[in-house]
Amino acid sequence: MPNRFQIKFWGVRGSIPCPGTHTVRYGGNTSCVEMRVNGERLIFDGGTGLRILGESMVSEMPVQAHLFFTHSHWDHIQGFPFFVPAFVKGNRFSIYALPSPNGATIKQRLHDQMLHPNFPVPLQIMQANLQFYDIEIGDTVKLGEVTIETARLNHPGEAVGYRVNWRGLSACYITDTEHFPDRLDENVLRLSHQADVVIIDTTYTDEEYYDEKCSKVGWGHSTWQEAIKIAKAAQVKQLVLFHHDPSHDDTFLDRLGEQATSAFPNSILAREGLEIDLTAHSQV
Ligand SMILES: [Zn+2]
Ligand SMILES: [Zn+2]
Repeated sequence: MPNRFQIKFWGVRGSIPCPGTHTVRYGGNTSCVEMRVNGERLIFDGGTGLRILGESMVSEMPVQAHLFFTHSHWDHIQGFPFFVPAFVKGNRFSIYALPSPNGATIKQRLHDQMLHPNFPVPLQIMQANLQFYDIEIGDTVKLGEVTIETARLNHPGEAVGYRVNWRGLSACYITDTEHFPDRLDENVLRLSHQADVVIIDTTYTDEEYYDEKCSKVGWGHSTWQEAIKIAKAAQVKQLVLFHHDPSHDDTFLDRLGEQATSAFPNSILAREGLEIDLTAHSQV
């Protein structure tokens, strides 16, 4: 679809999938967001939402897409071994990520995830054309007119945030990241500056984050209150709260959404199936 910039959410949770009767409306799958930009298909993270996205692609095969991983914690890679189009010859996928601090490439980490005793079939069984790219912080990936910028996030074991730009429109994917106690994160501010859409890690509330009995300080995630500080300072047009904690059920998230909207009117909660069309300036 040339001349369009569309975002679709396939998995919006952090940590672990949490299907069940209390998470029906926001969804229980872990992180996976698709952006269709000027005919290019970009996929951010391969949490369990990637399995559902893959099913939707089967009828369109042969397909090609670019997969950008923020990092390789389980909730961001567990859908990959169940991504059906990767098993089918004729499909093409370019896969981008930072090497981990111990030097392991994304190819190695996705490969290791599928080894015995963790999984029955190895990555080599995948018949699609898979190209792996190790990126560095600060790199910009160019796909025709579409550019994808990168920035370092504050997360145990490192993570990278992305900003997609095309013809003056922009959308950021910023998860997993923890705020700093004494200042706004300059990397996050710069990446999200005046962006049309910023999808951001809001795993916790401030109350949970600073809970004296079970503090979340140092766990690598942020709060919706901190995300709104970023949105205001960076003049973000629309903020999308993302990477919901698995303990936050539909009712809790409804309430959280109301609080966030009253503090920053252009904020919404990510939910499975949510679509945002930057070209139409509308959401469905
Ligand atoms: Zn995560
Ligand atoms: Zn993580």
